[in-house]
Amino acid sequence: MPDPVPESIVGVCVEAPQHAALAPWLDYRSEQLLMPGTIVRVPLGKRDVAGIVWYAGATLAGGGAALRPVRQALCALEPLSQAWRQLVGFAAGYYQRHLGEMALAVLPPELRRIDATQLARRLARKRTSETFAASQPAASDAPGAQAPDMSDGQLAAVEALRTLAPATFLLHGVTGSGKTEVYLQAASHALAAGRQVLVLVPEINLTPQLESRFAARFAGHRLVSLHSGLTPAQRLRSWLAAHQGQAGVVLGTRLAIFASMPRLGLIVVDEEHDPSFKQQEGARYSARDLAVYRGRLEGVAVVLGSATPSLESWQRAEEGAYRRLALPERIGAGALPRVRTVDMNLQPRDAPGGSGLSAPLLDALRERLARGEQSLLLLNRRGYAPVLHCGACAWKSACPHCSAWRVFHKRDRTLRCHHCGFSQRVPKACPECGNLDIQPVGRGTERLEEQLVQALPEARVGRIDADSTRGKGMLEAQLSAVHAGEIDVLVGTQMVAKGHDFRRITLVAAINPDGGLFASDFRAPERLFALLMQAAGRAGRDASQAASSEMWLQTWHPRHPLYAALRTHDYSEFAASQLQERRMAGLPPFSSLALLRAEARSAEVATAFLQAAAVAAAALPEVQGVSLYPPVPPPLSRVADVERMQMLLESGSRAALQRLLAAWLPALQALRKDDKAHRAVLRWAVDVDPLSI
Ligand SMILES: [Zn+2]
Ligand SMILES: [Zn+2]
Repeated sequence: MPDPVPESIVGVCVEAPQHAALAPWLDYRSEQLLMPGTIVRVPLGKRDVAGIVWYAGATLAGGGAALRPVRQALCALEPLSQAWRQLVGFAAGYYQRHLGEMALAVLPPELRRIDATQLARRLARKRTSETFAASQPAASDAPGAQAPDMSDGQLAAVEALRTLAPATFLLHGVTGSGKTEVYLQAASHALAAGRQVLVLVPEINLTPQLESRFAARFAGHRLVSLHSGLTPAQRLRSWLAAHQGQAGVVLGTRLAIFASMPRLGLIVVDEEHDPSFKQQEGARYSARDLAVYRGRLEGVAVVLGSATPSLESWQRAEEGAYRRLALPERIGAGALPRVRTVDMNLQPRDAPGGSGLSAPLLDALRERLARGEQSLLLLNRRGYAPVLHCGACAWKSACPHCSAWRVFHKRDRTLRCHHCGFSQRVPKACPECGNLDIQPVGRGTERLEEQLVQALPEARVGRIDADSTRGKGMLEAQLSAVHAGEIDVLVGTQMVAKGHDFRRITLVAAINPDGGLFASDFRAPERLFALLMQAAGRAGRDASQAASSEMWLQTWHPRHPLYAALRTHDYSEFAASQLQERRMAGLPPFSSLALLRAEARSAEVATAFLQAAAVAAAALPEVQGVSLYPPVPPPLSRVADVERMQMLLESGSRAALQRLLAAWLPALQALRKDDKAHRAVLRWAVDVDPLSI
């Protein structure tokens, strides 16, 4: 009788937050020899869950009988590569998450759900459709094919990227300078070398236009997109095409940084400064920072592109860690728009159309209208008015569940909280004193639109914001109306400032940009500058109109240095002054930060947890070199009846901060579990490199 097949032990990562305090993986036994990276299905409690083999252990020699068996291995798929596992392992460690949670969360949801039989069916279906696709004629994709004439800056950048040297490049190009063409050229070299290209963009809205440019250039290659807007089936199909190496180009939002790509040769992060690259819940990772790590890990070139790079990336380039590639000119010699400020201190308070639109700006809009050109007005606040106010008793439309005002939406006559969604009909009279004369205070996009219609009756006014684009396809429809010239004046939030290529807009105006100048968050000026530069870039994209294009700023602080730098389109001067301030204040990129956040029904409970956490940290030797600040409420301290508190940790050494966090987390888990006083804490989380504090 032959010996029974010896079983082996495998360590499997599963998504099991309740095991968070335990080992990063759980042991199972397996009759099959399973390679690390194999996706399996294993029993967990009474459930059957997906897992990833993280290590293939020794042959089972007694004592392992208590281990449960692996139910099934998805052997039709190549195991996830060691580089992929290392990326995920690094992300889990750096952002202080459980390995299994991280590893499973970044796989397509559908892949976590299906078994081997279902997978086989999907793969068969996928093969059929690909055979059909392969029979279609493919266009030429030789490097340089269909490429337009390039500027000196572009040629130099393309030359630097030709060899796809494993390095991080910061592509600093003003809007309209042709960054995309540089991406395309670098991608063509990677594809010609048989490698795959990963392109990250900040928002789903921006994927279609980039997708069509890549698709037009690389018709012979498979291009897939990966973002949360896909159906589960589409997302699995894209993921499989990347994992199996058929997709030459993977284009996606931040989650695509974890795409499994066996032949990765180039990573592009477009608009690298955009806050959307930072995940804001669960594992709070930065896809931009992970891109740099992944590039180093896999020895591939990483291109970070922006007109207004993040100060972190800019500083890395200053230090020589990143190679800077500059595109200082707009393609076709189109000039950047002239920046003009309207000093609101000098404007009469009863200007036509209300104080939101100054007389000089209205005149400029009329001029555009007469010439048949388009204008874009930027106001980063949707709704009609941010608050309703009673002059008799000082009542304001506060949200009963949040530390925020409910916004007045005139169209459907509601008071709506933008944080918890609480919505009510607008009261006919003041709910406190019965006064019938309650007034909207301040201005949102709806009100601006209304004022424009009154002030410019002959103009066709449109509005694009989260309210006007709620339905599927509505954003596309509105954008194409702008492109078709059916809109004369477009009102919009920051949604319209990003990326969209409006050919006929010659005037962009920021109606009330001052808020970012004095906000408590130290990154607010950086964000405001980026937003205004980006908005300015929407004007004069057509070279024939560039000479007459203008960016207007209505401001109470016309001499502010931020506006001065904007006037000269001088990002590097702005960056230098901001970095100087950050250096003096010991803020990133000259220090590393982490936040411990806690949420509870009462601020006292959340605060007590943070204070106990601080005591626990103080007892650790790793606290050396790390400063802990007292718990404070964040700017929005209550949402949906939940109180939030946060505590800042700061260190001049990233490594020291990482050491403390690693040692501290088990203590925090124990604190919540073992100490009755902290059971009422609803949620707590560590945010490493937080984007807002
Ligand atoms: Zn009142
Ligand atoms: Zn609310």
